[in-house]
This record gives sequence, C-alpha cells and structure tokens, in this order.
Amino acid sequence: MEKPTDIVIASKNPHKIVEIEEAFKHFNIKVKSLEYYPNAPKVLETGSTFEQNATLKATQIMAFVKNAVIADDSGLVVPSIGGEPGVYSARYAGDHDDAANNRKLLSRLADKNDRKAYFQTVLVYLTPAGDKVVVSGTINGEILKNPRGHNGFGYDPYFYVPEKQKTLAELSVHEKNEISHRGKAIKALVAKLENRWSK
Ligand code: IMP
Repeated sequence: MEKPTDIVIASKNPHKIVEIEEAFKHFNIKVKSLEYYPNAPKVLETGSTFEQNATLKATQIMAFVKNAVIADDSGLVVPSIGGEPGVYSARYAGDHDDAANNRKLLSRLADKNDRKAYFQTVLVYLTPAGDKVVVSGTINGEILKNPRGHNGFGYDPYFYVPEKQKTLAELSVHEKNEISHRGKAIKALVAKLENRWSK
C-alpha cells in the first residue's frame, strides 16, 4: 500500500483535525480539513451503524476530493436501553443540542439500574487506488445521574470513567485523548497504516 502525500479529513471540526494532525505528524503527510473544499457534498448519515456512516462519508468525500481520506463516525451506546442513542447521538433529542440530548438520556435511564455505557469511534481510511483500512476504538464507563466537570462536549459531563474516577468532562483535553474512543481509534489507524506503508 502506497503512502500518500496528503490526507483529507472528512470533517470541519477543528478539534478532530488537530488530534489527527498530531498523530500523523511523524509521517510527513499533509493533513487537510474539509475547509479546503467548500463545495464538498454534504453527506447524509443514513447508516444504521457507525461503520456504515463512516464508510458513506469516506466514499462520497473521496469521490469528490480524489485523494486519500479519513472519515469518522462516533457515538454513545447504552446497552440497557437497546443501544441508544447510537448513531443518533448528535440528534437524539435536538440537533447538536447537548442539553436536550442529555435530558433525554437521563429520562430514558430513570428506572434502570444498569447504567453501563460506552463511546465508540469508527475510522475509515480510503484512497482512490482502493486501499481501505477500518479501525474502531471504545471507552467504557457509566452514566451518572448528575453532571460533573465542564470540559469536553456532548455527553461528557455524565460519562464516568471508573479507571480515572472522573467524568470525561473532568479530564483535560490531553488526558481525554489518551483514553478516549477517538484517541484509541486514531492510534489503531496510525499503527495499521504504519505497518502497511512499510511493506
Ligand atoms: P461525531 O460522529 O464524532 O460527530 O459524534 C456524534 C455525536 O456523538 C456527538 O455530537 C456527541 O453527541 C456524541 N459524542 C461523540 N464523541 C463524544 C465524546 O467524546 N464526548 C461526548 N459526546 C460524544
């Protein structure tokens, strides 16, 4: 598998771009965000799994930019409520309305003793030559009844990580990236690509 000179990240989220850029620094590859491509198609996330959605994004953005791409999809999964919010994490109650999404999550869990949850990220690397690598990262925790901490975003203030005895919102960006679903998926992708590109 050939190492590309540029990789386009199928996202405009500056935090994701910086995190991926950091991880790819030592490869000497230019990492570009979708900000470089104002006319890129808006990909509809119609899949029923994180992998399907990440693949939809990778395929459609790769066809447009004609370059190697990395696309991601992430979300929170709570098994005791049938895997909700899952692929609907961003729009569970209101579109990217963190407060409304958290309220809905707490009300769905009101009568549940099992509050175990995990975040998952799937990353898909795809190139015009047809090279494809898919990796996943997860972090396990449980959903608290009351929020703790002010860092992060989304469900972070309610997501308690037993090994840290803190919620994700009580960790610094660096501490979170070390253990998060996204951080683990990025590390897994770097390791796989490193291996493939050296052959
Ligand atoms: P995305 O696919 O990374 O944009 O994530 C989709 C949605 O999942 C976000 O809008 C959040 O609601 C939720 N989510 C994903 N990752 C995290 C996280 O690290 N902390 C809190 N919420 C997250």
